[in-house]
Amino acid sequence: MSNKNEKNWRQSTKLVRGGLDRSHHGELSEAMFLTQAYAYDSAEQAEQSFNGEIDHYVYSRYGNPTVSMFENRLALLEGADHCRAMASGMAAVYCALASKLKSGDRVVASRALFGGCEYVINTALPKFGVKTEFVDGSDLSQWEKALAKPVDIVFIESPANPTLEIIDIAAVAELTHKAGGKLVVDNAFASPILQKPLELGADIVTYSATKHIDGQGRVLGGAILSNDQSYIEDELQPFYRNVGPSLSPFNAWVLVKSLETIELRVTRQSENALAVASFLETLPSVDRVLYPGLSSHPQHDLAMKQMSGSGGTVVSFEIAGGRDAAFKALNKLSTIDIANNLGDLKSMITHPQTTTHQRLSDKEQAAMGISPSLVRLSVGIEDIDDLKEDLTRALG
Ligand SMILES: *Cc1c(COP(=O)(O)O)cnc(C)c1O
Repeated sequence: MSNKNEKNWRQSTKLVRGGLDRSHHGELSEAMFLTQAYAYDSAEQAEQSFNGEIDHYVYSRYGNPTVSMFENRLALLEGADHCRAMASGMAAVYCALASKLKSGDRVVASRALFGGCEYVINTALPKFGVKTEFVDGSDLSQWEKALAKPVDIVFIESPANPTLEIIDIAAVAELTHKAGGKLVVDNAFASPILQKPLELGADIVTYSATKHIDGQGRVLGGAILSNDQSYIEDELQPFYRNVGPSLSPFNAWVLVKSLETIELRVTRQSENALAVASFLETLPSVDRVLYPGLSSHPQHDLAMKQMSGSGGTVVSFEIAGGRDAAFKALNKLSTIDIANNLGDLKSMITHPQTTTHQRLSDKEQAAMGISPSLVRLSVGIEDIDDLKEDLTRALG
């Protein structure tokens, strides 16, 4: 059983001790329970386990002790009553929405979304008769117009990938509730350290744990968190048990250990990101730097308010000379990797137009602000001087 005091701990303590469920061996490090099923002492105990009279694991698609440790630790970090771990970030987004929606329901989402989220909202859900539409997330007047009509779910990501536009989560939550809907925030980009959407009024938060939560490039994982008990018990829980997007105990074990260091990693990554962004602003070959932590960002004040005074771990910028100049610069880097992941403790850079957002039409790319000269840099925990030297080599 986990510590009864854990809700009163400060964040750093929650991250290393929260949710710990020690076995009778007293192991100091969280145990990995690599098991599918669980044995009962008696037929009576089996019956009581299935009807919920006693707390006993029954099958790892429904629950597993290592997975529970991850769920409980992440719930403490988020300040949520409930957390369900998922096999990936996309499993989390799909299950959060599909468990709730039915044919005829209406979804409004911000336009600038991770590719998988765009597919779920634009293609997968409409196949089942869900009506979906998009607005420019940072433009509150578009939200006001779209949410003047009843809505079932509003789905957003902030900061937006890769342009780092900020959506006013509290304002969109208020409009969503007035329209009778629930606000779902995909918080993978900001991380649970910098932004807590439930505190800002969101109803459901999803994560790709693959990003900042692992942060070390190893496993896929995801999670759904909420304080809405009826959503969790009546909608998500039966969907989750029967559809089977469960996180594997091995991945849960990696992720529960990852949470121990997430605050240290994300804090250092954000400090490095701010330093890198300020440095890039001084380079003549860089036309424009997009980073919410810089006062040059159009929504700097809002970002500071809702992201714990940080601009996050990702910096996007435009290189003078378009695609050719961007490719040339990427090819000259020797410390920073060319890779399309983010939130990792190794710095990595990508050219969104030709990689992560390649599938979109020219018009869609333009609407999302993805130009041929734009690159996205996810900043790691390396020494800042090595990062600056590498960027100077490529751009100086
Ligand atoms: C990566 C990502 C996802 C998908 O996560 P996976 O773990 O790769 O399935 C969803 N949303 C956002 C914002 C992401 O960055």
